[in-house]
This record gives sequence, structure tokens and C-alpha cells, in this order.
Amino acid sequence: MIQVLRTPAEFKAWRKNQKGSVGFVPTMGALHSGHEELMKNARRENDVVVLSIFVNPTQFNDPKDFEKYPLTWDQDLKTAVNNKVDAIFYPRYPDMYPDEYRYKVSENSYSKLLDGAHRPGHFDGVLSVVMKLFNIVSPDKAYFGEKDFQQLSLIKGMVDAFFMHVQIVPVATVRESDGLAKSSRNLLLTKEHREMAPLIYKTITTAKSAEEAAKVLSTNGFEVDYVTDIDGRRFVAARLGAVRLIDNVQI
Ligand code: AMP
Repeated sequence: MIQVLRTPAEFKAWRKNQKGSVGFVPTMGALHSGHEELMKNARRENDVVVLSIFVNPTQFNDPKDFEKYPLTWDQDLKTAVNNKVDAIFYPRYPDMYPDEYRYKVSENSYSKLLDGAHRPGHFDGVLSVVMKLFNIVSPDKAYFGEKDFQQLSLIKGMVDAFFMHVQIVPVATVRESDGLAKSSRNLLLTKEHREMAPLIYKTITTAKSAEEAAKVLSTNGFEVDYVTDIDGRRFVAARLGAVRLIDNVQI
């Protein structure tokens, strides 16, 4: 039987009785096949698999984005069962932030670029919640998608900087058949915008430069936050209406 544990104390009590290696998949729910790929990797490589679902308010710089973030608990529970997850940690805000966010983890260099430049405080929120989750879950391995490559790099950096006992395992981006990176936010796209969205991946993989890719996207109706090449990788964030999409590819 899958366990659903709602407080850190409840989770830790359960965790004490687990034997063998623990693989951990942190998410904000609205699970799709990208998240499932993380769960499958965790299932293959560990004795015990823990999924967390927590829409973390501190990483949302835009309160409207937080309010409309999709919640699909019933479906998520089925997805977790289908992927043989052992326990879901599904906490509430006050239990995760007993300090009311007086304490935070920040990085002062790479987190200021790309998404960090457009979403002030975003990565402080991400690193802080991931640190909390790691301390509660005590995983041996934790799985993160390359879809959020900057996040993945910053989490690896945090684990090294603080000598944390967890191995970070990267998982390749899962895409729709038309190339669009799977994302919980895709559910919020209008029909018209959903049809336009695959141009992001197509453009960043084919354009000769970041500048050219940005131009193609903006002439085709996207509000481009950035297209930037760093260390052999091309990163993009672009908005269609109120929905902000990100992607990245190796170049
Ligand atoms: P989220 O629920 O969006 O915070 O994502 C939870 C985890 O799933 C993060 O490590 C993401 O990078 C990963 N993830 C989200 N979308 C994808 C995708 N399309 N392919 C692979 N991993 C993904």
C-alpha cells in the first residue's frame, strides 16, 4: 500500500523503518510523463521510492502564477501507484516553513542569470525547499529533470557546497511528439498557444545563434524573456499569453 504522509514528523517516523536505498523525486504535482521518467529511474535504482508533491510558494515570484498552478491530486495519486512509488510526502505550507521563511539558501552567481534574472528570488525558494525536503526525506539519490537545467546545476552545487549526503541524478527532458517539453504549465495553454508552443524547441535546435532564435520566436508571437547560449547549451524562456515556458538543449 502506498503511504501518504503529510507532516515532516509523520514522514520521519515512516522513514526510520525503511531498509535499503531511498530514491527521491521532488515535484509540484500535476504529474506528467516527464515526472514519470524520474520515478521510473528511481524505481530501477533503489529499494524504496519517495515522491513529494508540494507547490512551493517561495519559488513563485508571481503570485498569479502560484494561484493558477494546476492541482490534480486524484490523478497524481494514481500515477504514483502505477509507478510503484512507496510513499508520497504531501506537506502543507506551515509545516514546511515553521520559520516563515526567515532562513533561506541563496546562491550568488549563476542563480542571477537566465531564469534568475527574470524571476527574482526564484532560486532561493527552490534551493531552500529542496534543502528542507532532503533533510526530511534523507534520500540516497534524488532525481531532477534536465528540463530545468539551471535548477539541476544549482542543486548539484548546493549539495557540493554543503557536503550533503545525496547523489543528484539528472534525467533527460521528456517531450511531446511535436517536440514541446512536457510541463505542468502546458495544461494552461489555450488551444491556439498549444499549437504555437512547439516552435520553441524547433527554433532553439535549428537557429544558428541565440539572437536568431530570439528573433524567430518574437516575430512569431512569443514574448521572449531570453535566449542565451552558455557552456554549449542553449536556454530559452518565452511567454505565450500568461503562460511562461522554458526549455534548453545541447548545441
Ligand atoms: P516540477 O513539478 O515542474 O517542479 O518538476 C519536478 C521535477 O520534474 C523537476 O526535477 C523537473 O526538472 C522534472 N521535469 C519536469 N518536466 C520534465 C520533463 N519534461 N522531462 C524531464 N523531467 C521533467
